[in-house]
Amino acid sequence: MPEFLSPELLALRDRATALASGPLVALRDDVSLDAAARSAKIREASKAAGVYGLTQSADTSALTLLVVREALASHGVGHLSGVFGSGAGVLKGVDEPLRSSHLLPLLAGDKRGGFAFTEPADAPRPTWARIDGDCLVVNGQKSYVTGGAEASFMTALVEIEGQGPSMVIIDTDCAGVTLSRRFSSLDGSHHAAFRFDEVRVPRHHAIGAPGDGRGRAMANISAVRRALAADCVGTAAWVISLVGERLQRRGAGKAGENERVRLRYGEMRIAAYGARAAVYRTARLADAGHDVVNESIAAKVMATEMAHQVTDAAVQLVGGEALVVGHPLEGVLRRLRALRLAEGETDTLRINVARGHLDLGKGRI
Ligand SMILES: Cc1cc2nc3c(=O)[nH]c(=O)nc-3n(C[C@H](O)[C@H](O)[C@H](O)COP(=O)(O)OP(=O)(O)OC[C@H]3O[C@@H](n4cnc5c(N)ncnc54)[C@H](O)[C@@H]3O)c2cc1C
Repeated sequence: MPEFLSPELLALRDRATALASGPLVALRDDVSLDAAARSAKIREASKAAGVYGLTQSADTSALTLLVVREALASHGVGHLSGVFGSGAGVLKGVDEPLRSSHLLPLLAGDKRGGFAFTEPADAPRPTWARIDGDCLVVNGQKSYVTGGAEASFMTALVEIEGQGPSMVIIDTDCAGVTLSRRFSSLDGSHHAAFRFDEVRVPRHHAIGAPGDGRGRAMANISAVRRALAADCVGTAAWVISLVGERLQRRGAGKAGENERVRLRYGEMRIAAYGARAAVYRTARLADAGHDVVNESIAAKVMATEMAHQVTDAAVQLVGGEALVVGHPLEGVLRRLRALRLAEGETDTLRINVARGHLDLGKGRI
């Protein structure tokens, strides 16, 4: 529940709120800055507020991350780049030499990583590797690597012959790695597709125990799903407050008194209440050490679908002005549309939750 937070968490939420409503809103709206300068200034402000490093520390609880992400998103700045430092992702807990060669430079911002999981639907077989002495020889394709064009390396799910799926570090400048396509999605994020032809990587680039790649990838994906869900409940609160203020504003006509409008507005608030409760419950279960793969899916589906529906309804209530490029709601609508696909498409995830219970006996209601 978002209520009954500890005094420490309430203090952190106040700091995140001050960061969001002060420097971050100003930097978001400063049209004189290019993307790199904006991100550098955001990083500075976030470090000063003690928020930047939260995603990098293994000690940060799921509830803490949720409270901070929600506070940022409820001021319309949760998606800005530079607020958080790169997290360890699937490199969490790696030993030497990967710790020095990849993890520490990633955390310091000296190297960028990409997560390479999704493959083209028509790929003849999943990306695979054979073992050749001290090397893995990788062949295959990945179709949707966010930030891939700027990445120094990817962590890719690779089927290693005789061992099973592993997350493998593939440096983007390795011979045989081809960046086959660069593209952007409607939310404004940038991606790349890669082909691997006889790419030789050291065997120690396979992270963790042989065959544990899918579980490792899923743990990372679950954490990202919770992050998206937190962003969505905060964003929905922001959208609802924009609409509520408009309906309460004097001189806004009779919209706020119209029963049809009130019905929509009440519906938005009810949907947000339900998703928010689920997202908080999931964070608390994660912090108590429970397996929350199914609950993270449920939270992600509920929060992304709810936020998109709430924003779509908000556009309808505000009218044509909301669709003018540059209006806050049109930007939010584009961004949220992408989140219903990213980290698992909604219907596929619904089927996964059914499978989780029917075939594996997992998951709560
Ligand atoms: C903004 C954004 C960022 C992303 N970043 C990354 C990234 O960094 N790394 C990465 O690896 N991926 C990334 N992705 C890819 C993302 O994970 C996939 O798009 C997502 O998992 C859905 O997979 P898909 O696009 O292959 O669609 P599919 O899973 O193929 O789904 C498409 C449609 O087909 C339906 N469908 C699926 N399976 C079946 C079936 N068996 N029978 C009938 N219907 C079916 C689904 O319900 C859906 O309607 C990103 C995507 C977005 C939008």
